[in-house]
Amino acid sequence: MTSYDDNNIFAKILRGDIPNDTVYEDDHVLAFNDISPQAPVHILVIPKGKYVSVADFGAQGSAEEIAAFWRAVAQIAADKDLPSAGFRTIANTGINGGQEVPHFHVHLLGGKKLGPMLARSEAA
Ligand code: 5GP
Repeated sequence: MTSYDDNNIFAKILRGDIPNDTVYEDDHVLAFNDISPQAPVHILVIPKGKYVSVADFGAQGSAEEIAAFWRAVAQIAADKDLPSAGFRTIANTGINGGQEVPHFHVHLLGGKKLGPMLARSEAA
């Protein structure tokens, strides 16, 4: 598994080196608006721990961190009134997944009908 890069953009956000538009924070989790939103609601939820991907987080994260993370995703979705109409969570991973920032994050997207999961040209 790729080792964690302390210079990735989300590490800089966590250190306070780069500003962010925070929507949620607790001991284990930070969530902020995506700088380039793809939907009316586009929030990035990240663990504060140094995990490269969902695979890394799921394998190496503590039970407390994992519980806190998914509780936060649910809490933010509820705070934004997303569950009734529906929403999407995405965790891009590695090269095939199109992951640009190598710190585990979940995209929380909603506020409109989001269409098919993949563009037709990208489907299998
Ligand atoms: P990925 O492709 O890794 O799943 O998604 C990375 C996301 O991070 C992209 O949606 C991109 O717009 C967002 N992003 C990149 N740099 C910044 C930044 O400096 N601030 C914020 N808020 N989002 C960023």
